[in-house]
Order: sequence, then structure tokens, then C-alpha cells
Amino acid sequence: MEKKSVIILGATGSIGLQTLEVIKKLPDFELSGIVFGKNLTLARKIIKENKIENYYSPFYPNYKFSSLEEFLENLKPNIVVSAIPGFDGMISSLKAIKYTKRLALATKEALVCAGPFVKQECKKFNVELIPIDSEHSAIFQIFDNFVERIMITASGGAVRNIKTGKLSKLTPKDILKHPVWNMGKRITVDSSTMVNKAFEVMEAYELFETNNIDVYIHPTGTVHGAVLLKDGTVKIHFGFPDMKIPIAYSLTYPERKYINTNWPEFSSKNFEFYEVDKEKYPAFFYGKTILNDLSKRIAFNAADEIAVERFLKEEIKFTQISEIIIKTCEQIKGKVNSIDDIIEIDKISRKYAKNI
Ligand code: MG
Repeated sequence: MEKKSVIILGATGSIGLQTLEVIKKLPDFELSGIVFGKNLTLARKIIKENKIENYYSPFYPNYKFSSLEEFLENLKPNIVVSAIPGFDGMISSLKAIKYTKRLALATKEALVCAGPFVKQECKKFNVELIPIDSEHSAIFQIFDNFVERIMITASGGAVRNIKTGKLSKLTPKDILKHPVWNMGKRITVDSSTMVNKAFEVMEAYELFETNNIDVYIHPTGTVHGAVLLKDGTVKIHFGFPDMKIPIAYSLTYPERKYINTNWPEFSSKNFEFYEVDKEKYPAFFYGKTILNDLSKRIAFNAADEIAVERFLKEEIKFTQISEIIIKTCEQIKGKVNSIDDIIEIDKISRKYAKNI
């Protein structure tokens, strides 16, 4: 059998690195190239260790390819793993759709800021859209046509056990000690504001086309999601919080080929759920109210990126992240008819957020 070729967009990030490991454990899959950004030291190491011949980065001179499109067109991979963070990741995901058969999607901004366009392009080019994020992978695996509601879980981040009144004193150091998942800096902060979970609700809204999305705080991260069916059945997706599992599934779907016989215990602590605290996570609750307003979703993402950057530099307080996001979104309205509109709204939102 011919091996399935995979390209990783964002190879030096957390998802990219884990995808490299997963591919090594899947004999029917081969890495045919990588795309990376500014982390050239790590990129060189990856290229050398994995003997990668084909790669592309806008920040690294390359004798073979002068653009992402040229790179993708030459390689025509079976699967593109899209894991470039931020707004750049959205643009490259959209570009990748034209040159592959499957988009394994980790970049949140693709669905948050451009969901309708990504789905439309996938349909047009007959490309499968498979989510990588653990919660969406979980729902994707248990979804069926009798679903009434879906539920995804949240860790509550580093602030889960901290009183709301004390949040404004937290430093980046306090926040970056994240309890369950090992992730990049922005997503770790986003996990503590639960802005990340708001993004995930927006993504779920696009992927599963429903407004009926519940979120519960679940400290162990062992239940990733559930579907509530019209006949009273609840299907729960249960497993260790290990991103390699959903990454592998996004490659091997509809089959399962990744071996990992390490399961969580059936103990009560692995099935604890709590309601989300409204005062502690204001941006999350705000995010849930703008699901069907794409322009505000774009603003939500842009303002968060600016605010998190400022927080990491210790220029604003932790609680100001949510304030900046909500204030920015309130100033943005209008229809989004094209990718150019998205870029424009993103730009304006960043300006507003900076001013605030
Ligand atoms: Mg997630």
C-alpha cells in the first residue's frame, strides 16, 4: 500500500512537534515536508534529524520554493496538518485547502475567524475537514444524526482554584504553570481566561452546526466531550489528555491505528464536572453570545492576541485581558463577505485593542 503523505504547517510548535512523533509511530504515513516560522534553530534541528528535503518558511531562504502555494502545489500531500498559531495560521489553512485531500485542523483562528469560508472551500475542493483539538476530535468521534446538544470540557486553567478577587494580582509566571495540558504560552493564558474555550465553542458551532453547546469545568481533563442524543442517551468521550491521540486520529480517520494502551482510571475524580463561574471568566461568557456574529469573532481573536501579548510583558493585569476583548468586540460590527473583510476587521480590531 502506498503511504499517505503528510505536510505539517507549523512544525516547530507544540502540535507540530507531537505530529512528528505520531507519524514515526504510524507505518502507513510519511512526512513529506514541513512549514515553519521564525524558530529557525528548532527548524534546522527537525530538518536534520528527520532528513527532511522539502520545507518552506517565509523567514528562511530556500533553494526550492518561493511561496507556500508553490511548496504545496509541488508536494500535493494527502494530508495537511494545519498548526500555525494565530491569524497567519488561518491564511495558510485557507491556502492549503486547494492542494490536499484532507485538512487536519489545529489552528483555531481558521474556524473562529473564517469558519464559513473554510467550510465553503473544503466543499468546493472536496477536502475532508478533520479537527485535531481534543474536544472537537472527541465530538467528531461520537457525533451522530440524533444529537440534540453537545458538551465540551474545560480545565479552568491556572486560575481554577483562585478566588475571583485575587485574579488582578496574577503574573504571567503564575498563569504559565498550567495544570493539565502542556501547551504554548498564548494558549496557556487563553486557557486561564477561558478565551480558549470560547474559541472552541465557536469552532464547535462551525463544525457541528449547532448552538446547543454546553461547557463544564472538568479538572482531570479525562472527559473531552459528550453528545446528548434525542433518545436520552449520552455518549461520553473518555481518555488521557494526550494530544498525540487526536492528532493520530486526524491522520488515520476513519480507521484507528495509533497504539497507546494507557487508559485513565474509572475513578470518581475522573468524572467531576462543575459549572463555569460567570465572574471569573467574563470573556468566555461574552464569547458564547457572539457565535453567529463573524465580525465580532474576528475582533475577539484579534483583541485577545494583543491583550495576551501585553499581559506577558507585564504591561496589563490579568483581568484586563477580558476587559480589552469585550470592549473591542463592542465597537466592531458589520458583515463579512470576503477574506479581505476578515483582514480589514482584524486590523481595525487590533488598533482598537491597542488604544484601549
Ligand atoms: Mg482544546
